[in-house]
Amino acid sequence: MSEQQSQQGSNLNRPLDSGKLVLATHNAGKLREIAELLAPYGMDVVSAGDLGLPEPIEDGDSFAANARIKALAAAKESGFPALSDDSGLAVVALNGDPGIYSARWAGPTKDFSLAMTSVEQALAAAAAQGDNNRAAYFICALCLAWPDGTTEVFEGRVDGTIVHPPRGDQGFGYDPVFQAEGESITFGEMDPVRKHSMSHRARAFTLLVKHKFTA
Ligand code: IMP
Repeated sequence: MSEQQSQQGSNLNRPLDSGKLVLATHNAGKLREIAELLAPYGMDVVSAGDLGLPEPIEDGDSFAANARIKALAAAKESGFPALSDDSGLAVVALNGDPGIYSARWAGPTKDFSLAMTSVEQALAAAAAQGDNNRAAYFICALCLAWPDGTTEVFEGRVDGTIVHPPRGDQGFGYDPVFQAEGESITFGEMDPVRKHSMSHRARAFTLLVKHKFTA
């Protein structure tokens, strides 16, 4: 699976034509990447932070569920369509961890050096038990929500491996330890334009564009 879509609500299949769109994230890295991906589509983009919207509690049990929580909260509070991103890194030998807890592994100070060290320590523990699999994937669930409660989720995935030590200072989060399949550099070393040609976020976004923009 690298892309999939799901919908909930009574008013489905509405196109998303130019107009105001709230980006329901307070994560600066995601905000930058989503704004870059949306740039060609002429939306009047405003962030949840700019509108002073609170961050809802993400207590869903999947990326899609958490994306719905964030987009619905922003759409209902603002009265405009909202787009959220719930994403993270899943490491195969760690049974999919950190997964939906990817942000939490960085602790309250959002220290991703700590999070990447924790992943490496957990992989070393798995290797000591005979599991040397360093395969991992990023998943991104983008949710588009309208103030009437309709939601649509678009998911993208990119497969790769965890490298050590971390390399590169581009991107954000776990990018310096993630090397996509067929690549010799990490997302942290990659030019943003190239990351957008293959990332989980870009794949989810391609699906969204296919279904939501009429042009
Ligand atoms: P959440 O979706 O707000 O729960 O946070 C997901 C976390 O996953 C982010 O804080 C990042 O650490 C990580 N993550 C999601 N997408 C990426 C990416 O494209 N690169 C690196 N890390 C990512």
